[in-house]
Amino acid sequence: MSHAPQSPPAEVAPGIRRLTGGVSNFYLVEDSGGLTLVDAGTPGDWQLFLRSLDALGRRLGDVDAVVLTHAHPDHVGFAERARREAPTNVWVHEDDAAVAQGAKLGKGDAGLARYLARTEFYRTFAGLVRGKATKIVPVVEVSTFADDEVLDVPGKPRAVHIPGHTPGNAVLFFESRRALLSGDTLVTRNPLTGRTGLQVMPSGFTQDTAQALASLSALADLNAEVVLPAHGDPWHGPISQAVQLARAAGPS
Ligand SMILES: [Zn+2]
Repeated sequence: MSHAPQSPPAEVAPGIRRLTGGVSNFYLVEDSGGLTLVDAGTPGDWQLFLRSLDALGRRLGDVDAVVLTHAHPDHVGFAERARREAPTNVWVHEDDAAVAQGAKLGKGDAGLARYLARTEFYRTFAGLVRGKATKIVPVVEVSTFADDEVLDVPGKPRAVHIPGHTPGNAVLFFESRRALLSGDTLVTRNPLTGRTGLQVMPSGFTQDTAQALASLSALADLNAEVVLPAHGDPWHGPISQAVQLARAAGPS
């Protein structure tokens, strides 16, 4: 095993650090000594995760919870390994629990053929293959949450159900940090077209794009100042504006 020194991951909001192996972002939230991991990257991001903990002077055993925004392979990632080895609980919305545990993944509402002319398509698929994220590593045991539930994990995020990208897709709102961890609900870089700016995920990766756009209404009242997406850079501003921009961008 290599032990290349790692600089601590960037702090993108108070006590919230962004990690990425190049395909999707995942976030480590610190709260009075406890740690919550929001999404678990790709399975191949495990070593990056361990090195990042090390750079922060933390250990795997300090991770109190893994919370998944939804059950896609580049978010479920190494969650099962963290569950077993930390050990820790893995949380997911009740409507995505079966898929996180290995049930068949739903298909996108558009085929992938429309993206074949885009360099970003190949970059993303190469990253998914490299990260072993072409299918989900099933999580043997999950804890489930419902809409508008405040999770009793470090940072006390409120889970808001935003169905569309997947049936159990959710965002995590960390109210004390004014931070919205938006997963694939709002992203700032399109992993199939490469377009930057606020938008919903491309239809090739989304089960119901019309529903994903309509569901954004549930975000408008959240008093967040920063959107931390799974794809792309942080976005600073009021959520109502973020929703407007994503709706204006429309499907892709
Ligand atoms: Zn996704």
